[in-house]
Amino acid sequence: MTASLKLFVDFDGTITRGDVGNMFFRAFGGDACDSLVRRFRAGEISARECFLGEAESMGRVAPDALEQFVAGQEIDPSFPSLVAFCRERGVDILIVSDGLDFYIRRILAANGCAGVPFVANRASLVRPGADGCAGIELAFPHPDAVCERCACCKRNIMLNGSVDGDILAYVGEGFSDRCPVRYADIVFAKDVLQTYCQNENITYYPYISFDDVVSRLRLLLDRGRLRPRARAAAERRAAFRHES
Ligand SMILES: [Mg+2]
Repeated sequence: MTASLKLFVDFDGTITRGDVGNMFFRAFGGDACDSLVRRFRAGEISARECFLGEAESMGRVAPDALEQFVAGQEIDPSFPSLVAFCRERGVDILIVSDGLDFYIRRILAANGCAGVPFVANRASLVRPGADGCAGIELAFPHPDAVCERCACCKRNIMLNGSVDGDILAYVGEGFSDRCPVRYADIVFAKDVLQTYCQNENITYYPYISFDDVVSRLRLLLDRGRLRPRARAAAERRAAFRHES
């Protein structure tokens, strides 16, 4: 790998209008999912336990109903322009999500972004019955060995997918973005992630749509202003020290 700009983008609430993962479980698993999410946010259960509990509350579902739910989800209409920009400028883009591949794959494809790579938790439909309903089975291929706050560790994906000298940019908005922004040189934040960055003294660019992200990255690239953020570089070095 040669050093370059690498862009990591959250999915739920960043690329999509709402938190599809939460709505997905809520729609099929009911109220039990709300209390699981509350317990997770309070640090009482791990992300993985939360997901497994939510999948259990869903029980058996009709695949058509899941497809219909996913088909109704909208993305930010400016996202394809970010994808086009990355292609034009040779920037590696990777979607990093603590959501489920089941809906991410379908939503990207429905919006002309099927080729954009992503990393997420896995959900598959299993044991279909005579009534056509199936259970949902989850798998977590990207955990961290120690930290349980996320089921899919975005930090590890960023660190493993980059080399010394790379400039890491991150676009996000919510809870699962709080850890990865600490390791990113360039942070684009909206909603509650802005408050987190302010409280943690993490420099960030506010954005409303991906057009803002494109303009800023274009400017930084054109002016040769891609520089590491000292604290992010130090956090990355520290993470590698703990690993080795
Ligand atoms: Mg999100």
